[in-house]
Amino acid sequence: TAAAAEEPISPSVQVGETQLLINGKFVDAASGKTFPTVDPRTGEVIARVAEGDAEDVDRAVVAARKAFDEGPWPRMTAYERSRILLRFADLIEKHNDDIAALETWDNGKPYEQAAHIEVPMLARLMRYYAGWTDKIHGLIVPADGPHHVQVLHEPIGVVGQIIPWNFPLLMYGWKVGPALACGNTIVLKTAEQTPLSALYVSKLLHEAGLPEGVLNIVSGFGPTAGAALASHMDVDKIAFTGSTDTGKVILELSARSNLKPVTLELGGKSPFIVMDDADIDQAVELAHFALFFNQGQCCCAGSRTFVHERVYDEFVEKSKARALKRVVGDPFRKGVEQGPQIDDEQFKKILRYIKSGVDSGATLVTGGDKLGDKGYYIQPTIFSDVQDGMKIAQEEIFGPVQSIFKFK
Ligand code: ADP
Repeated sequence: TAAAAEEPISPSVQVGETQLLINGKFVDAASGKTFPTVDPRTGEVIARVAEGDAEDVDRAVVAARKAFDEGPWPRMTAYERSRILLRFADLIEKHNDDIAALETWDNGKPYEQAAHIEVPMLARLMRYYAGWTDKIHGLIVPADGPHHVQVLHEPIGVVGQIIPWNFPLLMYGWKVGPALACGNTIVLKTAEQTPLSALYVSKLLHEAGLPEGVLNIVSGFGPTAGAALASHMDVDKIAFTGSTDTGKVILELSARSNLKPVTLELGGKSPFIVMDDADIDQAVELAHFALFFNQGQCCCAGSRTFVHERVYDEFVEKSKARALKRVVGDPFRKGVEQGPQIDDEQFKKILRYIKSGVDSGATLVTGGDKLGDKGYYIQPTIFSDVQDGMKIAQEEIFGPVQSIFKFK
């Protein structure tokens, strides 16, 4: 799996904003603290970012509340809100390559994927939600008697959003887009591993005309900034995407504070099933993509590959050949399919899972170790003869480790 590297793409990467976004302005954390965000290719620090905690979350919630109660946002016409989201989409397109480069730098995903998939999808998402602003209908309910019963959908108020690092911009889009389309105001906590791209694009969103205080961003850590947001008494809803364990914490913090409604999007261990009449070459390719895409860092990764016993040996052999062909290397280089994992913590965790697979008796077909001696690269790894009871069959590895099971 040597990187068949061609010319470096060498885009002009700029860090952009590193402060918190509160009430339309970029400001330092109240404590003055900062934390480093690192380049997963090397572990080197890209920038130091303002580290928000409870006091900053509070400032952000106050700004969001004011923007909701007094600001123009919830009272604008749907058409006006839609225009701002559409202008934002245009600006994302205009800055596509710079945004993609920043995303690759901070996250490690292949630049070609960031530039051709993730950033264009963010623009599409914004146009999609722009289209929703004037299509949120109420309901007239048939009443028993001379009554007019009407359901009117209104924005919920100040929404707290907590997102992970695997698709920083899509996570941002899936949270910010619908909340804005409906007229809510927002306090967003980005993942501590990838704070930069959300700040970059949010500046563009203000350029597109978003009023101050509507979207506030507090970069920082989960147990401090994230927990303060989930516990806040003046936040009306929390939308969270991340690990199942943290989801449980969020639900509890909501329950212990003001019982704000919570939406959770958590982890997974999805099966990919190959029957004996499948086109094996195609199945191998799809199963490979389902697991290895985005360095295996997907909540919907096909992380349990079940293969019918009649085609099992052929499938394992061909999957091995495909994994050996996978191009792993500097994500800024052309043709690279797999960059480094997000950080040292995930890197070590994945290597621990690989060891556990070996220890529990699964067959290591290929890979099984880190790649190179710099950065968080891991060899595309395949286990066969995986049994249901094994840890690698039960827990989310979130890395480039395919587990193949045999069934009758
Ligand atoms: P991952 O394994 O994807 O990093 P996490 O659930 O730890 O998953 O992280 C997802 C998001 O949740 C991140 O923004 C993180 O900072 C935040 N987070 C982590 N722990 C907490 C917590 N105790 N309270 C609130 N947010 C948290």
